[in-house]
Amino acid sequence: MVIAKHQQYETKPIDCWAKMKELRRARFRNNWEARSRGDLVIMGEHMGNKALWTGFGTGHYANMSFSPYWTGVIRNPDETVRLLSYVDSKGYGQQVCGALKIHLAHILMGVATKSPSGETIIPDFIYQDNFCPQVARLGHIVSKHLGVPYLYTESFRGSDPEKSREYQLEQVKENIERAEKITGMKYDDEKLIEAIKNELQTAKLVSQICELNKSIPAPLDGRQLASLGLPAVTMSHQKESVEFYKMLLDEVKYRVQNQISARGFERKRLMMDTFPWVAPHLFRYPEKYGAVVVAGDHPFLNARFEADENGDWVAITGIDELCSSIRTREDALRATVGGGRVGKSKGGHGSQNWRIEQVVGEPIEMAKQWHCDGMILAGERDCFQQMSFGLETKLLATSQGMPAMFFYSVLADIRQFDAVGLQKRFDIFLGSLGLTKISADEE
Ligand code: SF4
Repeated sequence: MVIAKHQQYETKPIDCWAKMKELRRARFRNNWEARSRGDLVIMGEHMGNKALWTGFGTGHYANMSFSPYWTGVIRNPDETVRLLSYVDSKGYGQQVCGALKIHLAHILMGVATKSPSGETIIPDFIYQDNFCPQVARLGHIVSKHLGVPYLYTESFRGSDPEKSREYQLEQVKENIERAEKITGMKYDDEKLIEAIKNELQTAKLVSQICELNKSIPAPLDGRQLASLGLPAVTMSHQKESVEFYKMLLDEVKYRVQNQISARGFERKRLMMDTFPWVAPHLFRYPEKYGAVVVAGDHPFLNARFEADENGDWVAITGIDELCSSIRTREDALRATVGGGRVGKSKGGHGSQNWRIEQVVGEPIEMAKQWHCDGMILAGERDCFQQMSFGLETKLLATSQGMPAMFFYSVLADIRQFDAVGLQKRFDIFLGSLGLTKISADEE
């Protein structure tokens, strides 16, 4: 085996990677096959509440975004520009953020409802957790365009979490009743309870995995964590998700015990908030300097932390006790809706919309807790919420002595993204941390 000169630690591929890809493929197939099995087909920008609709059948209902082919598009710059231009030509302009423009294009073009085999599948209804105003508006447009009902919950992120939680809870209960009328199906609380328990167990396991990334060397890097988090995004309510994260937790514990690092080096540890989807390779650009991203909003998208008695962030506790106490629909919904999501939020996408001052310090605390030497922060050009959150965090981090850089990113609108300029800014920032580029003969 050839060991690179800059290598500090042992490294090896992740055994669970193939399983994650298998689950991802199965979920995609499942979405298009659900209707023929008699399962519900639901579309929307889901950020939570996946367990909710299990009460109408199985956990294998179709749970699709407005653009089931988004990932394929975003890897193809020409297709991305074609879709963005199409939506612009329809007069939407800057009313819709780049990410949502791709979704809207696929809806207006009829692509979102076309299965890979050419069948047209119209959802039973739209359902969304409306985490930002543009998402709420998009749900309305799609509902009108497809002629299907629109169910949603709206957050109320004021200063009183209890009121916010009660407000959301009432909306969820109403949504179940509305969905019973729409589908003519009877809701089964036992199925809901089982799915909520899976969702909570998934959150516990994911959080424990992310907490282990405090170890030096980090067993996983940010890009790996973001990809390994996909089953939790799409199927956290299913037992397959719980089984997957049990396996991954065992593997990560083994890596920590045996000092197996994500990349084999770790000259500096970084926190990266948000993610340049149009140029995912930039997530790993710091590796050219021997630095590794070990924490951030996308790597920890599904993790929930709480502060222990010393103020340290640890994986949420009390989940097993919570699961054992769930006996009714009310218990189950309270366990996950609003404030029931135990632990600190991560800041970042979708959670920063209302009271920036309440969450702006969280990424900085996260960077400190995960022993980071610096922070890379981004603001989406066409998302006011993300932009202001990134800029506020940068100012606060600098005032606290935490090195931080801010850059303008895009979720999808590649026409506004300057990858070359950004690499130069990364070079300057990484140099300011005392790093030099790893030369070819060191690799
Ligand atoms: S990027 Fe901003 S506008 Fe777009 S979906 Fe996320 S929070 Fe909403």
